[in-house]
Amino acid sequence: MGEGTVLERLEMVEGANAHLIGGKLIQGNASFAVIDPATGRPFALCPEASQADLDAVVAAARAAFPAWAARTPEDRRALVHALADNIAAAADRLAPLLTREHGKPIEQARMELTVAAHHMKQLAALEIGDEVLRDDARGKVELRYHPLGVVGAIAPWNFPIALAMHKVAQALYTGNTLILKPSPYTPLTTLAVSGLAADVLPAGVMNVLAGGNDLGAWMTAHEGIDKISFTGSVATGKKVMASAAATLKRITLELGGNDATLVLADADLDKAAAGIARSGFYNCGQICMAIKRVYVDEQVRAPFLEKLVEKVSALRVGPGSEPGMDMGPIQNRPQYEKVKAYLEDAVARPGAEVLTGGSVRGGEHGEGGYFIEPTIIAGLDETVPLVCEEQFGPVMPVLSFTSEDEAVQRANATRFGLGASVWSTDETRARAVAGQLMAGTVWINRHGLNESDVPFGGMKESGYGREHGVLGIRAYQELQVVSRPTG
Ligand code: NAD
Repeated sequence: MGEGTVLERLEMVEGANAHLIGGKLIQGNASFAVIDPATGRPFALCPEASQADLDAVVAAARAAFPAWAARTPEDRRALVHALADNIAAAADRLAPLLTREHGKPIEQARMELTVAAHHMKQLAALEIGDEVLRDDARGKVELRYHPLGVVGAIAPWNFPIALAMHKVAQALYTGNTLILKPSPYTPLTTLAVSGLAADVLPAGVMNVLAGGNDLGAWMTAHEGIDKISFTGSVATGKKVMASAAATLKRITLELGGNDATLVLADADLDKAAAGIARSGFYNCGQICMAIKRVYVDEQVRAPFLEKLVEKVSALRVGPGSEPGMDMGPIQNRPQYEKVKAYLEDAVARPGAEVLTGGSVRGGEHGEGGYFIEPTIIAGLDETVPLVCEEQFGPVMPVLSFTSEDEAVQRANATRFGLGASVWSTDETRARAVAGQLMAGTVWINRHGLNESDVPFGGMKESGYGREHGVLGIRAYQELQVVSRPTG
């Protein structure tokens, strides 16, 4: 059967077949195919927004803005919480669709939905009110925070719901209206969630448009959008920043990383191995703040590697719809081919040692699903792309060092600066090393914790600004200073 015939037989998924524009679910005229990464084959159609749809949605979001901004934060919090409750209540129903379009194991899909709902509630409870900077003989100076207007939220495919819903909660709670664009690789569960939003939010407050990369670019250039909250790759982040400059939009960029972890000689090796295996391979390694390079002190290299290999070789890989899997396929074919190329290049390097895994199961172009075995490779250096670029997949390089200064210098020798971590039983030593690592977050004896009250973001090319916590949510507000004399 030719590809054309397959596409002709595809249908939209009920409940995930429309954009949300001004409170109405609208299908539009065009559509594109969504692929199941466990088979490499298309399984459903998704509506594809046009530039006219974007103009319509911007008009709806602008129209809804004054009334939404005029509500109290408590009122907006209650509605964001109602949406979060709806998402949590629908987690069992939506998880199979999330697994089908994303590939992740069904338990992890369910967890993404429930954790996203939990984070929404926490974000919509942060302190966002006005402040008095000073009230003394020189006068009273207040810091007042206003919503920005219409926020354009552009999401990636690795956590389609969690990352999008963080933006939804922060934007809406602070009094903005919102236009959300999911990744074209994983749009369907987001469309299903938009149906839940239509049930609780006033028309035009939250809007969802599915479409390709062009739609993202149109959003960043649109005069009717005041801020772009973007999560995705460094390369696209730079395009977003350049395009947003024309209208001087506010931007928050959450971009890629190449997180290093340092295992010091005095580390608890059992805890380090367990934590590193979890951080590096959860979600198939497709996490911005996953551990992507391991540096271990030469003195403990052998026992550490033995423990790490034991953990990683025990991971169960298969279709996410089968219960009990730890890892599904890579989410999409370009990413599969990218990780496969990193793997093949690394394995062919002189001195490379594959300690576990090392093969792909999905064929040259992922015809059998985009599966790659969880892999650990030693014997590489920083000239190898697997080490110095962002692999975003389940292939982990382990390097060794002989002094902490050397390890810090090598960890920092990158244009990325998202996260890093250090494993040591000596708190003073760990803190000293942490302070030298140039990353937006440095974890000690753990890696990758994401908490709603803690600002998160990258140094260097890993981002611009922060999300989460009071610091992050303030980026959805415009600061106004009100100053008057005393008396
Ligand atoms: P991507 O940059 O390819 O796409 C992200 C989104 O941008 C998609 O919705 C896409 O359609 C849209 N887009 C594409 N071109 C655009 C343009 N010119 N203008 C505006 N929007 C455009 O990223 P991806 O492959 O979907 O996601 C993986 C990347 O995201 C990785 O690098 C990962 O590290 C990063 N990421 C970062 C964080 C973080 O918080 N720092 C979190 C998750 C993922």
